[in-house]
Amino acid sequence: MNDLSAGYRDLVAIRDISLSVHPGKVTVLLGRNGAGKSTTLLTIAGLAKRTAGQILLDGVDITDRPPHVRTALGIALVPENKRIFRRRTVEENLAIGGYILRRGERRAAVRNAYDRFPMLHAKRHEPAGGLSGGQQQMLSIAQALMPGPRVLMLDEPTAGLAPVIVKDVLEILGSIKAEDVGVLLVEQLVDQAMTVADRVVLLDHGRVQSSAEADGLHNFEELRNVYLGGR
Ligand code: ATP
Repeated sequence: MNDLSAGYRDLVAIRDISLSVHPGKVTVLLGRNGAGKSTTLLTIAGLAKRTAGQILLDGVDITDRPPHVRTALGIALVPENKRIFRRRTVEENLAIGGYILRRGERRAAVRNAYDRFPMLHAKRHEPAGGLSGGQQQMLSIAQALMPGPRVLMLDEPTAGLAPVIVKDVLEILGSIKAEDVGVLLVEQLVDQAMTVADRVVLLDHGRVQSSAEADGLHNFEELRNVYLGGR
């Protein structure tokens, strides 16, 4: 995205943000509460109001495309607080995630989801609301993966999860990355995020404060103390 600005009514939530996501790489978006991380993801998905700038996918301008077209083109979002349908079964939730697919493709995608998340197969006929928090997060990720995205965005996927489940989620991200999907991850657990990060972008007051390759980040401790309040 180039020089992207977006907001809500008269509030400018992000301003002149430029960043890229590459196949098989994880870009981690960090910043304090209210820095504009969620708005950035929502704007890329077409769900927040862009006021300036461009979004390109493989050089093609998708800035004015509606959300469902972006989904079809390969942009997926796992939103904050996982938007699963609690009274629907696990399998119905997966089908909803693949709503843009034809029936045969959708069946194949559900099988892929079960291969990746065997636990979802075991619970496929159960209401999603009965799953544990970690299982619901896996379902939310599986749903987003249904159309076979090229860019997967996740908004704090580890929020509220036990450490052992956090590890599982990060492992899943590792496997998604290995399949050449580009990942844009908003994460509060900085140390954990750094285990999968290729690039780190720090937002502050809606702007890119700094960005760096993850392996070149020697003074990350300092950055964290200054901009993330020591988290
Ligand atoms: P958090 O970690 O708290 O989710 P964030 O970095 O994701 O923070 P955003 O949620 O993108 O930040 O918020 C950026 C700014 O936009 C904040 O000032 C916030 O109050 C405001 N904002 C976010 N969502 C809305 C909304 N739906 N309506 C009005 N203002 C909003």
